[in-house]
Amino acid sequence: MTLSGLQIFKLLPGGKKEANANCKECGFATCMAYAMKLAKGDASLDACSHISDELKEMLEAQSGKQQEEITFGCKSSPVKTGGENVVYRHDKTFINPTCLSIQINTSEGLDNCIKKVYQAANYTVERVGEEIELQSLTINNDSEDYVTFNNILESLKEEKTIDKVSLILVSSCIKDLLDGYTIIKERQKPILYLKSGIQDDYIRLYTETKCPVVVEATSVDELSNLVTELEKAGIKEIIMTLPEESEAQPIEDLTLIRRSTITNNVKTLRYPIITFASKFCNTDSSIEEGMIAGSLMAKYSNIIVLNNFNPAIVYSLFTLRQNLFTDPQKPLQMEPKIYTIGEPDKCSPVIVTTNFALTYFSVASEIEASNIPCYLLITPSDGMSVLTAWAANKFNGEIIAKAVKDFKLEETVDHKNLIISGYVSMLKEEIEDEMPGWTVDVAPSEAVDLPDFLKEYKPECKQLI
Ligand code: SF4
Repeated sequence: MTLSGLQIFKLLPGGKKEANANCKECGFATCMAYAMKLAKGDASLDACSHISDELKEMLEAQSGKQQEEITFGCKSSPVKTGGENVVYRHDKTFINPTCLSIQINTSEGLDNCIKKVYQAANYTVERVGEEIELQSLTINNDSEDYVTFNNILESLKEEKTIDKVSLILVSSCIKDLLDGYTIIKERQKPILYLKSGIQDDYIRLYTETKCPVVVEATSVDELSNLVTELEKAGIKEIIMTLPEESEAQPIEDLTLIRRSTITNNVKTLRYPIITFASKFCNTDSSIEEGMIAGSLMAKYSNIIVLNNFNPAIVYSLFTLRQNLFTDPQKPLQMEPKIYTIGEPDKCSPVIVTTNFALTYFSVASEIEASNIPCYLLITPSDGMSVLTAWAANKFNGEIIAKAVKDFKLEETVDHKNLIISGYVSMLKEEIEDEMPGWTVDVAPSEAVDLPDFLKEYKPECKQLI
């Protein structure tokens, strides 16, 4: 069970109202402050000499990863999956982002498979400053076509895609998996999924390859019993998969497994889970598959295999993943400085805003859309959006004036005009008071209205006067 800060506090001298409560020996002003840091893993257990053995034991157990972490795929850049130790992300940030894998089916024919491989393997997007790409491909011998299955793997190896994406091999024939593994073993440690396998098959696969094996069962109880037997046989790297049922069932099962592992410390369910989103769809629609994948990602599949490669759906899933696996207490931030959008000159407009990454990217993309080169002055605002930063006094005249000075804006442009968002129009006079000689112009509140505003806008540039 994961203890919250409040639960820890109740077991400390402060919570028990003992004589040495709030003695500050730990370096924190109160037992409550120390408890909050302990809960986040940001303080050492040894800092308080009054901590009980019972609490120490509970926290030591908690600090370990309760879900097993498995590493697979490219030897040069492997994927880590699992390793989670909380049920809810507001308790503590999730650790290893859900791995998205595009499935290549031999039944699609070699040429189509190769085409899909390269489309998926080369798909890259940038979002909120992060370069994101697909990490994995699942090669599925669904047509029991040994030659095509091997040809796909050979082609991956020749084109060096094998060093870029981590592989999951699927077949209902153990020979396919063992031979496929042999083709790629120098550069890959794939996950091996023998469909409808039995205990002895899993043991053989693991013994001969030392690769993670997917084990399946018809219920969570059966899965737990199977894992117990496989562990006894020495299998250390297990990936679990769920029975094929209705749409609601996987969410129930995934939640049950995560809670059992984290909250109730059920060891036999502690392995990462792979799900095949299309198994829970009624149609072949990539939209339906994407919606199901989104639910599976939120609750709590570690690897999700998509049968369709639809860039729009993959982008939506990347967005969801980025949000789920970001520390909610540390907003994504940009470095405070002057950014150039396009190729601005000394007469180009200067827009000032906060360092919240989403604010930056919304404003920057609208400036790009306007085709009017600008400077974007980003102030240090603790990653808050404009209105929140203004309310928290992190975006005010003094801070903006300091940023103008620190980043040498006067040397960058030949005018003294700043543009602020309409949301903080009340800052106009305050900024002008802090920066005598400067004029502050108020843009529309919504970034989407910036292009129209910029088309009409001209700073009072010395060069043009
Ligand atoms: Fe409380 Fe222990 Fe810190 Fe003293 S050392 S303030 S008792 S947590």
